[in-house]
Amino acid sequence: MNLSSLYLHIPFCRIKCTYCAFNTYINLDNLIEPFVNALIKEIQIVGESQVGQQLHTIYIGGGTPSLLTAEQIEKILAAIARYFDVTHDAEISMESNPSDLTSQYMKAVKSVGINRLSIGMQSANEDELTLFARRHDLQAVIRAVDAARHGGFDNLNLDLIYGIPDQTLSDWEKSLQVMLGLQPEHVSLYALGLEDGTPLKTWVENGKVPTPDDDLAADMYDMATDMLAGAGLNQYEISNWSKPGLECRHNLQYWRNLPYPGVGPGAHGYANGVRYSTILSPQRYIKAMNEGGDHYEFPRTPATDQATVVDRESEIAETLIMGLRLTHEGINRSTFKQRFGKDLLDVHPDVIKRYSQHGLLHVDDEVVKITQQGRLLSNMIFRDLV
Ligand code: SF4
Repeated sequence: MNLSSLYLHIPFCRIKCTYCAFNTYINLDNLIEPFVNALIKEIQIVGESQVGQQLHTIYIGGGTPSLLTAEQIEKILAAIARYFDVTHDAEISMESNPSDLTSQYMKAVKSVGINRLSIGMQSANEDELTLFARRHDLQAVIRAVDAARHGGFDNLNLDLIYGIPDQTLSDWEKSLQVMLGLQPEHVSLYALGLEDGTPLKTWVENGKVPTPDDDLAADMYDMATDMLAGAGLNQYEISNWSKPGLECRHNLQYWRNLPYPGVGPGAHGYANGVRYSTILSPQRYIKAMNEGGDHYEFPRTPATDQATVVDRESEIAETLIMGLRLTHEGINRSTFKQRFGKDLLDVHPDVIKRYSQHGLLHVDDEVVKITQQGRLLSNMIFRDLV
């Protein structure tokens, strides 16, 4: 039986953070209930097309899924259980904003089936949280972790951002120390990107805030690598660390380039050899799902916006680029051969040879993976592989 993963996009937030370019909207709380009903219709269509596939991970992302009530989450998970074949030990993750996490809410979402919680901490420095317009302070993060633990969560992820304008190495060290003091099972660290259309990018362009320093960001990454290893967290992906056995199984599905249907406005999915995305606007999404006819065949649903068939060459390139992000696992050569009928070393032999000679790739009989030295130059390596 093939294992699949389901991504659900919840496109609502209370405040738009200044760095954020995700498909998310504020002041649309009145649409949450109709959205949940539309989402359930899409879940039914996708689920009924997935015969022969078992769902082993579910990821509720966004946006801010913690704006949904526990009852709404229960309704969504019940629909997934009705229309999909979900494994008994499925990883069911939910992203959250610290400000939403009371003990009562945590107990409620745990009891309806969420078993992994990701908390958007982002920083332990109030100036940085203010620059980002996050709607929480550090105390709210500490309270949220406490509430999650009281609610019974034993698999917590904390996100942090580095490479922030004006951030010093000691600011970053403080964020790491505070975060490690909260003893998460999983950590994701993101280098700040200046995304088009965001206030932060405009402020950098007009000189209101300084341009982030790439060299300093590289030093921050090195510092984090040492501190997280010292705290017993294993790096398994370029931006992700976990306690042994608690790697995010959902994200591993992406990095192994395996199928993951996506539902909800602006969700991306990969299923039946097709990459697709859904309508961005929640209003149009709800309308499409409510009015959708019968003339579609998954991976098209009434909410599908774009769909592209992935040809063999693209599938190989995507498998290489995503697999090399897995710093520990890398790309297994025999799995690759089974999937594509050729040895990985015969794909881009010159590039692989050159980077292994320079110590940026590790190659042996079983795997090809990126080295510690290669991690900082990963974008260059990935570029050469497509
Ligand atoms: S809470 Fe997350 S999704 Fe919402 S605006 Fe902020 S960064 Fe974006």
